[in-house]
This record gives sequence, C-alpha cells and structure tokens, in this order.
Amino acid sequence: MACREHPSKCSTVAPGCGCSPVPWLRFLQPRLANHNPRGYPANSRGVTTPPSIRFSGSRFLTLFILALVAAGLLAGCGKSELHRQAEAMPLQQDISVHDLAARLGLRVTKCNHSLAKLSNNSSTVTVFAQPGGCVYVNGEEIATDAEIYPRGGTMMLPAGLESEIRRALRRAKATPPAIPVKPKPAKPKSTPIAVASIGVVVIDPGHGGKDSGAISAAGHYEKAVVLDVANALAKLLRQRGVTVRMTRSSDVFIPLDDRAGLANRVGPDLFVSIHADAARNRQAKGFTVYVPKREARASRSHRAGECVVRQLASFAPSRGVRQHNKRLRVLEKTRCPAMLVELGFMSNPAEASLLNRRDYRDKLAAALAEAIVSWLVD
Ligand SMILES: [Zn+2]
Repeated sequence: MACREHPSKCSTVAPGCGCSPVPWLRFLQPRLANHNPRGYPANSRGVTTPPSIRFSGSRFLTLFILALVAAGLLAGCGKSELHRQAEAMPLQQDISVHDLAARLGLRVTKCNHSLAKLSNNSSTVTVFAQPGGCVYVNGEEIATDAEIYPRGGTMMLPAGLESEIRRALRRAKATPPAIPVKPKPAKPKSTPIAVASIGVVVIDPGHGGKDSGAISAAGHYEKAVVLDVANALAKLLRQRGVTVRMTRSSDVFIPLDDRAGLANRVGPDLFVSIHADAARNRQAKGFTVYVPKREARASRSHRAGECVVRQLASFAPSRGVRQHNKRLRVLEKTRCPAMLVELGFMSNPAEASLLNRRDYRDKLAAALAEAIVSWLVD
C-alpha cells in the first residue's frame, strides 16, 4: 500500500514519515507522520520522534519500577509454588516401607493403613502405624511411639529407624539356628522355637481399672488374674517369635469397642481375650473357649479354640469350645479369627484359689502360648 506522503519510498521506510513495512502498524502512519505539535527536534537525519514512542525520564523510571515489581511477584509466586510442593512431599527424614524393604533385601508381604510386614526366608519386620507406632524385628520391639503413618498405599516411617532395624536383623542372623525340641509324648506338646516372626496376635486381658470383673470369695479380682496371665503369655509368645499387641498391659479401663477397634486396626492373625468366669452355682468349674458364630472366620477361630482345649485339658477341667452369644462384644466386633478364654471360675473357691497362685497362672500362660504357636505354625 502506498504512502501518501512518500509514494515512491513506502515500500521501505521513508525517513521521518513513520511508514512501516508491517501492514498492521500502518494505521498509525497518518497520525505519526508529520505529527510534531510540540516541535520535537529532528535528529541528524531529520527524523522527529512522535510523543507516543518517546519516553520522558520519569515515565521510564515508572515503567522500570513496575517491571521490577512484576518480576518480584513472579519470583514470589514461583517460590510459594515450590514451597507448596515441598510441603506436599514427604519429609526428607521419612522413608516408605517399600523403599526400606528394597534396601534391606526384604519383600513387603502385607501393607495396609495400620500394619506392614516385610520379610524374607529368615526375618520379619512388622511395622504398626500411629497411634502408638512401633516396629518389631523378629518379634523384638525396637521402636515405640514412632511417627509412622500411611501415605498413598504405603507406610512412612522415620529414616533413622533403618539403622536400628539393620542392627536387629544382624542380631537375628548372629543367633544360632534354634534346635527343634523333640516332641514329648506327654502333653503339653512342644513346638520348635521360631526365630522369625510367625504371626501377629492381639492379647486382650479382660476388664481393668474401674471394672474389676468377677471377685472371688477370698477377694481376688478377675482383672488382676487375667492381666497377669496375659502379660506372661505375651512374654512367652514374643520369645517364640510372635508379634504381640496388648489392648492393655496395666490396670487401666479400656472400653470393649476400643479393644475390638485396636484389633481391627492391627489386623492380627488371632485375637485372644482372657477372662475368668463366675456363676451362681459355686460348684461350676473348668475353662471355656468361646469363638465367633456363623462367620467366615468361625472355622479358623474354632480350630484355634481346639488347640487351647488340647493344651489346657491336660491339667484343668474343660467345658470345650463354644460359639458365643451376643453378650461377648469383643467377639462380635472383631473381624479376625478370635476367641475368648475363660480360665476358670472365680466363683468356685477351689478354682479361685488356683487362679490366685502364680505357678498356676504361669502354667495357664505356657499352655496358651503352646496352643497359639501350634495354631500359627499349623
Ligand atoms: Zn470377664
């Protein structure tokens, strides 16, 4: 398109006319060409710069400051975005159980929001999430109240625990292999001592705190009897390579639903609630094993109950394995194989006297441990 002022030169750019070879800028041409109302001086080639494209010193300074502010805002946005990303990422000192397993040469055989199991042929590391996060290596507790939490299908734990877990694994390796004990003809039968964790069991000593349970004529409390047996049982099971969680290990009150809730969070192989019976008939005697009724877990629970009966029946009167009715809430609410063992009758003076003896309670704990281990390895 020809320039009216410089028809012969508009194909390039005529000095001073502002003509542009770029078509979309040509609309400026009529106003810019020859527009010099304030008399801006021409340069050596006779070119005057229109006011629209000249910047005064103050305007340039203003634009420069605006550019700096914009750059600052962009930088700030970038920084906060990075900051948000950093916050969204796991803390550097935490490690996933999957990464930990890879470093230790273990496989993750179980991982849910509350429990992870890492194992190989000779060792097992069990990780429990908060609350009360803890880590067991071959049944040995190496960390308690650790910051362990689920994240995106895995479980995170402090990276600092890796070295402790390695040490515990080395200790297990250094331990000479256990010599299997020859089965004795007399009951209770012995089971080979296990080195690696052979299972997870939640032990629930009944009652506690303000709830004394049954009280014998001599004034002995069920809550104290069952706690003593449960603590002894936990110790024996840990020695045999079983990972144990207790609903209580001291004289505290725990609501029934919380006991079942703990079991459901842990997801153990077996839940064992320990009680002592009471009846109006002071002659009633013997131990009883209650198991869940008409559920998928009922048959496994029943087999565990039969193991208990086999062990305890060698020295105590047995009332057998029975399906529970609705009154046994911990059996009703738990989802894993479960049983409730009534060790004997607090209302029977002779049995209450036995239950009050430490050697008898230790005998009960040993028989229960034997039964549980035999069921776990079966
Ligand atoms: Zn009870």
